[in-house]
Amino acid sequence: MTSLSQNISVFLDHFNQLKAGRPLTLVAVSKTQSADVVREAFHCGLPIFGENYVQEAIDKQALLQDLPIEWHFIGPLQSNKTKLVAEHFSWVHSIDRLKLAERLSAQRAMDLPPIQICIQVNVSEEASKSGVNPNEALALAQAISVLPQLQLRGLMAIPEPSEDETLLRSRFAQLKVLKNQIEKAGIPLDTLSMGMSADYAIAMEEGSNLIRVGSALFGSRSPKPHPQ
Ligand SMILES: *Cc1c(COP(=O)(O)O)cnc(C)c1O
Repeated sequence: MTSLSQNISVFLDHFNQLKAGRPLTLVAVSKTQSADVVREAFHCGLPIFGENYVQEAIDKQALLQDLPIEWHFIGPLQSNKTKLVAEHFSWVHSIDRLKLAERLSAQRAMDLPPIQICIQVNVSEEASKSGVNPNEALALAQAISVLPQLQLRGLMAIPEPSEDETLLRSRFAQLKVLKNQIEKAGIPLDTLSMGMSADYAIAMEEGSNLIRVGSALFGSRSPKPHPQ
């Protein structure tokens, strides 16, 4: 066994224990990892990968075309990149304005299934700049829900990094409350995309059903931000 496959198997054991039979999706976050690493992880039982940088992801996908991987885009999205994302991803977790959603819907080929969408919500107040303000999430959900080539699935959040478990819990709980409010307004949602390497266990306790995990599977990334 390589150290990667060992790491993944230890993680999956822990994950399966926590999940205790509930439906729960694991997105393996492979930003900065090579295509070879993704290939090996796929063969260790990880079929879903999340990427943050459009060009990096597309280069990797080209080398992995022989594998039935489901690709999720989870990074900040710029308008000039929506076409590539519409062509190359099944899911987008980071929608925080209508313009991005409209472009993705218009640019998604009609012979492909709709893109599965999560709205990214800023649950960290001033501490974060990404994500829609919680009190604007319902209006954005309503506007997205009528776009033809998108299927709105749920909400995503990245709380500010914190050692304070109570604070993290309250951030995750807030996202769940918001999901319930949007559903009460008549828009069905089935996904709460919350939890990363440092906090997935807490997120799962607070109702997450999709976690996005990178370093706990692949080891720590270089701290240098990856160039777009
Ligand atoms: C990098 C990233 C992750 C994974 O982070 P880890 O701490 O390595 O698990 C999850 N979600 C998003 C949006 C990310 O950018």
